[in-house]
Amino acid sequence: MITFKRYLNRNVYYLFLIIYVVSLPLKSNEDFYEIYKYLHQNPELSLQEFETTKYLEDLLEEYGYEIITNIGGNGFAAILKNGGNKTVLFRADMDALPIKEETGISFESIKTTKQNGMDVPIMHACGHDIHMTSLIGTAKYFSKNKDSWKGTIVFILQPAEEIGFGARQMINAGLFKQIPYPDINLALHVSAQTQSGTVHITPGFAMANVDSVDVTFYGEGGHGAYPHLTKDPIVMSSQFITTVQTIISRNLSPINAGVVTVGSIHGGTKHNIIPNHVDLQITVRSYSDEDRELIISRIKKIAESIAIQNDLPKNLYPIIKLRDEYTPAVFNNPDLAIRAKEILSIELGKDKVFDGPQVMGGEDFGQFGRVEPKIPSLLFWIGAVSQKDYKEFLNNSKKLPSLHSSKFLPDYEKTIDTGISSSIALIKAHLN
Ligand SMILES: [Zn+2]
Ligand SMILES: [Zn+2]
Repeated sequence: MITFKRYLNRNVYYLFLIIYVVSLPLKSNEDFYEIYKYLHQNPELSLQEFETTKYLEDLLEEYGYEIITNIGGNGFAAILKNGGNKTVLFRADMDALPIKEETGISFESIKTTKQNGMDVPIMHACGHDIHMTSLIGTAKYFSKNKDSWKGTIVFILQPAEEIGFGARQMINAGLFKQIPYPDINLALHVSAQTQSGTVHITPGFAMANVDSVDVTFYGEGGHGAYPHLTKDPIVMSSQFITTVQTIISRNLSPINAGVVTVGSIHGGTKHNIIPNHVDLQITVRSYSDEDRELIISRIKKIAESIAIQNDLPKNLYPIIKLRDEYTPAVFNNPDLAIRAKEILSIELGKDKVFDGPQVMGGEDFGQFGRVEPKIPSLLFWIGAVSQKDYKEFLNNSKKLPSLHSSKFLPDYEKTIDTGISSSIALIKAHLN
């Protein structure tokens, strides 16, 4: 027979045990929240990720990873071999953006850098600090639990994602000759539009080919009151802008998606002067390589046909320049995507895993899968919006700041928990 006192003691004991067990997962990630705060407060712009690289290299070295440093600038690889014959590559990007943070959080970034003599503010407004923290949490788990898996893990810390440059730079520097060749590539990205604790996965094309095209129309300038004596590049540019809209509506299959946006036009100085030239900048988005080529070739043809219509001499034909900063589409291997949904449904719960939308945003992660032989790849979205903000958004009382907004602030604890647990589950499932 137990006395009331013993009964009470036993229940108090169980109560504390339950509180302890429930708080365990959060407690174990507390160190990573501190790492996140440090990274958030110390952002660095593309190609300047010197301190971030050093900080992460030291952590991963401490966990027992073999570090291959300076791969294409500030990029590096951290490798852990543990028998087996499967290799998984997991990538996180490290760079931040020239934005003045306005979240008001206690660990807000006040960092600036000098550019052309000006102070430029810096902020992790695309959540790359969450990506790095999730990678660190995942890396620590695999180094401390070597008896629960076999294989090789290659963590890639990539610079300069925001300028569509870092992945290509690492690959051109011989990344895949320096690391064990991966069976699959994985990466995650925070989502500013979905709830923390959830994951969204898009099979197939998930993000777009991104191209930047510069077009300059030349003419023969003169007095605005005597247009018949000139060749007007402003009128030619206007014809061009309206005609290129027909590429998506008339040339691309109605089943496929694409974007042609003229984001910048500069020409002329005054009301009554017809200028000699007009400069345009265009962003082009597509999914397949074929559609990409179609859109770019139509832009060239339309520009030239406008020169012909306007009786321009050949030496004044428009100059069309396709910039080198091309980012290929992110194509999520459909089998990998289906399997990831199954794995994460078990890990996080069926009600936390969703099909993701296709978007026309760009991400240079796609580069890592396009090498030869090709590597099946998957980039998945982890929600970053708190339950409270998401509810207010659903009842139209709140707008959610987008990625790259000065007000973007992830619900960091839950987002990091999900980032780490989903990354561990996906990597583990693809090892022996
Ligand atoms: Zn971004
Ligand atoms: Zn990003």
